[in-house]
Amino acid sequence: MPIVLLDPQVIARIAAGEVIERPSSVVKELVENAIDAGATQIAVEVMGGGLESICVADNGCGIALDDLELAFQRHATSKIQNFDDMFALNTLGFRGEALPSVVAVADVEISSCQTGAVGGGKMEFRDGKVFKKGSLGRSHGTSISVAHLFQSVPARLKFLKSRHTEAAHIAMVVSQYATAYPEVKFTLASDGKTSLSTTGSGRLSDVLMQIYGLEVARNMFDIAQYGGGGSAAIKISGMVAAPAIVRSNNNYISLFVNRRWVTSRRLVYAVEEAYHGLLMIGKHPIAVINMEIPPSDIDVNIHPTKSEVKIKDESEVFGAVQRAVRQALMQTAPVSTVTESSTAYHLEPAYQANFVQQRPIVTMYGQHVSVSKTMMGYDALQSFSSQTPRAILPALRLLGQLHNSYIVAEGPDGLYLIDQHAAHERILFEKLIRERNTAQLSVQALLNPETFDITPAQAAVLSTHLGELSQSGFLLEEFGANSYIVRTVPSVLSGKNWKSMLKELLETTGKENSQFMEHLMALSACHGAVRFGQMLTEDEMRELLRQLEQVDLPNTCPHGRPALMCLTYEQLGKEFKRV
Ligand code: ADP
Ligand code: MG
Repeated sequence: MPIVLLDPQVIARIAAGEVIERPSSVVKELVENAIDAGATQIAVEVMGGGLESICVADNGCGIALDDLELAFQRHATSKIQNFDDMFALNTLGFRGEALPSVVAVADVEISSCQTGAVGGGKMEFRDGKVFKKGSLGRSHGTSISVAHLFQSVPARLKFLKSRHTEAAHIAMVVSQYATAYPEVKFTLASDGKTSLSTTGSGRLSDVLMQIYGLEVARNMFDIAQYGGGGSAAIKISGMVAAPAIVRSNNNYISLFVNRRWVTSRRLVYAVEEAYHGLLMIGKHPIAVINMEIPPSDIDVNIHPTKSEVKIKDESEVFGAVQRAVRQALMQTAPVSTVTESSTAYHLEPAYQANFVQQRPIVTMYGQHVSVSKTMMGYDALQSFSSQTPRAILPALRLLGQLHNSYIVAEGPDGLYLIDQHAAHERILFEKLIRERNTAQLSVQALLNPETFDITPAQAAVLSTHLGELSQSGFLLEEFGANSYIVRTVPSVLSGKNWKSMLKELLETTGKENSQFMEHLMALSACHGAVRFGQMLTEDEMRELLRQLEQVDLPNTCPHGRPALMCLTYEQLGKEFKRV
């Protein structure tokens, strides 16, 4: 084939492919333009998951009549003038690519009127070209309707998911922008049904209530209230959910850099790390993290959709996020309290598709017992010292045992139910950490040292961690190729099935040393703890309560499972209709 210059229409369609991947990309670009135009109200209406039509209307500054056609040309923008402006950016857009890209792959109608102008203009585009042009009277602002998306690009259509999925992506986009801009009133209607409507009050908590419902919103804590985080240059704000509110994937961690919605696996990890030890394995938190970073320290021009940004000092931001979230959690992490869900009115979640709402009859939340300031997770191993523990639980009076599994106790504020296994696990975990840090580990020498046979893969893991194992009370000596002699075990495991515990430990390959150590301690605590379903004597239960009153984080077991909950007198009064 000879070399030819491509037709401009072909070039436009190819370029559009980078920016407009699916219907939600159109919504994202149009909403960003509306925000950049200073709109205080943005209404999004879609039909058929955006494939039939998308309409975004705003009350922003509008486009001058004379500029209307220019706005649809490639690289036409009012947001920057030269390259350096990109590093002092205070708008979401700057590439001048969105409108021409949409026109290249859909039919578009725009009407706009600039603030202060007498009348506005209207234009229609078909097949990438101007089809109609005229003037009209309207209030200031802009409305753009997009129809027949990707009809001219059948290959792209084939890649799209169901309309339902596309609608969910759109809801996600609008929810994220509503979260980043609580002062803007957003509405989203899908197939004629309003699925999101924010108040524009400026309060993030109001937006979260619309998106996630009352139950979640009232369990979200303000990060800034607890000191925020970061250096003078980096400011972290936002809200995080109490550990009792969990999700099964990490899509509910929203990140914004200078109010731009971004994706970053590293920063998601920073948030998850801050919850370490408070959530069950496989569970994820809900969080909104706003990062304010000087524009000169970030590069937003690394991706056509600008969904990723390069941060000059990412480690600093990582640390600031982690600290801010952890601080907020440590100040607020409550003992789970039983509340009636009938008082929580039901709000349709904005993005149902991958949103599994938990609506048990009895839900858990609470805020009245604060947790001491010690950290959790491996940091705790380092920083734990004898003066840190502080009585957090009130003194509890034993009432009895329920189902051979729960300890029932009375506290000054109500009835306490304690998961005996989870609580004992927490007690032993903290005991092991304390003993290790003070080098006062209590070990049990085995009268008859036992041999321990393992697979070659397990042996490989074991040989790299012999040091950590001996620090935690397991003295092992090599005895042939895949066999070890065990001389001592931690005394919490004496008489327990420590062999199965060691095997479980060795299944976890690839852990870093710090994680290995913590995992080892958590597993020892788990295997050493009283079982769920085990009958306990009154003395044993009293002793367990007394020890639980001394621990640092009584709410959860080391894996994040709740260890206790409180049914307050106030709640009892409500349930029995006495108040
Ligand atoms: P960019 O946002 O990168 O500048 P776009 O193609 O998205 O590029 O938009 C081109 C220009 O059209 C913008 O710079 C802006 O001046 C104008 N524009 C687009 N949408 C709107 C809107 N909703 N309100 C006001 N002006 C708009
Ligand atoms: Mg734009």
